[in-house]
Amino acid sequence: MADADGPTRRAMVSGGGLGLATLTLSAASASAASSTGQPAPVDEGMVRGGSVSFPPIHAGTERPDAPPPNPDPPSRRIGFAVMGLGRLAVENILPAFAECKHARPVALVSGDPAKMAAIAAQYGIAPQACYDYAGVARLRDNPAVDAVYVVTPNALHRDGVVAAARAGKHVLCEKPMAADVTQAREMVDTCRAAGRKLMIAYRCQYERNNVELARRARAGEFGPIQLINAINTQNQGDPTQWRQVKRLSGGGSLPDVGLYCLNTVRALLGEEPVEVYASIHNPPDDPRFAEVESNVSFTLRFPSGAIANCASSYSAHEHRNLRILGPNGTGELENAFAYEGQRLRLIHRDGTAEANVELSLGRKNQFSLELDHFAQCVRSNAQPRTPGEEGLQDQVLMAAIYQSAHSGRPVRLEPVNGRDVFRGSAPKLADKGRQRRRLSMAQPASPPSTTSTAATTRA
Ligand code: NDP
Repeated sequence: MADADGPTRRAMVSGGGLGLATLTLSAASASAASSTGQPAPVDEGMVRGGSVSFPPIHAGTERPDAPPPNPDPPSRRIGFAVMGLGRLAVENILPAFAECKHARPVALVSGDPAKMAAIAAQYGIAPQACYDYAGVARLRDNPAVDAVYVVTPNALHRDGVVAAARAGKHVLCEKPMAADVTQAREMVDTCRAAGRKLMIAYRCQYERNNVELARRARAGEFGPIQLINAINTQNQGDPTQWRQVKRLSGGGSLPDVGLYCLNTVRALLGEEPVEVYASIHNPPDDPRFAEVESNVSFTLRFPSGAIANCASSYSAHEHRNLRILGPNGTGELENAFAYEGQRLRLIHRDGTAEANVELSLGRKNQFSLELDHFAQCVRSNAQPRTPGEEGLQDQVLMAAIYQSAHSGRPVRLEPVNGRDVFRGSAPKLADKGRQRRRLSMAQPASPPSTTSTAATTRA
């Protein structure tokens, strides 16, 4: 940005020093910018309403760059206390605040004082903003804390959420929401009675490739969805971890990883299933599965006629893919439920060719998107996209999945009328314009063209 009253820094550099550089930028001199060494307006960018932006510098054929993040100043951001400093909190959530625009970490809750002190030092959190679990009520006296992010083992979410809401704080809670339906209902009721927001951290509903696939499905791009395949598996290790202890986890692969399949399928269609049929199998004599299940396969039938085949496992190598099939085409999302590595492909007829188009949406940290969404909901008093009711519905459906697997019979479910009945409004896309333009370029061309990244012609 040019200084109104003096030389620009770049003019000083190119002029060799203050005495030689007295030029300031004007519209008239802009065309001569490159010859004078002065920055052109297109290079300087502009400031409007406190936000910095730059005009595009590439031709309209190129995808535009992402705009600058223009984050809120730290003092305006929603302050979070992170409760439970385990792997997810330390490896993913706390680092993700660095890419947030509206959220920041201001307090910690842990049962391990030494670990908490080390992490507090890393993130500039004051010792007096560090609490043990018994001290959660004292969060009420810390006005910097607007919300608590509960990241403890599943069966302990209820206690964390209830304590946080009673301390007057909004709550973001990890998935699965709870160990059972009763706990989940109590959490919703408590937050409602306290007038606090409750959001369940279904990060895939904020991840850009998942959001884009759902947008296309809902826009009818594939035609009426006929079939969905969703699979989420990982091979578990140490049998003493809490995930293998039922009273702490509430279950095995279903609530941990199968839940991603269940929640994603519901969010894609916007409908609720009317029937579920499931089966469970554990590798025999495997100490990891003395208390919780390994392999779960479940089929969901939806009112539209769509059928979703889902599977989760704790004893199969990592695989996290999603596929939706309609008469007009197929959408495939590789690594749909992973932290990164999503690859979104659209397969459809393109004239006499079969087009297989891969979309590249650019990388965004899904934990940051999720945190920022909740921060914006707190600030604007809006219902989160994935509120407690969304988590409660998944708990109800998981209970039906277990019931079906144990009885060996399909379970009919109470019909739910309407679309997205358990969800708040969709998160705003910060760079909507950029995305819209880029995606429209990926639409199939007609007549057949060779613009697809991978197009094969049928013989
Ligand atoms: P970890 O086992 O790595 O950490 C859990 C932490 O909870 C512990 O380090 C401890 O923190 C605290 N804790 C309190 N009481 C207990 C207890 N009795 N036993 C064990 N830990 C206890 O788990 P994760 O971080 O992997 O998972 C935490 C939650 O996050 C779970 O609900 C899980 O489902 C969810 N999750 C979500 C993911 C996602 O992608 N959204 C991915 C991974 C997990 P402290 O010492 O500070 O008290």
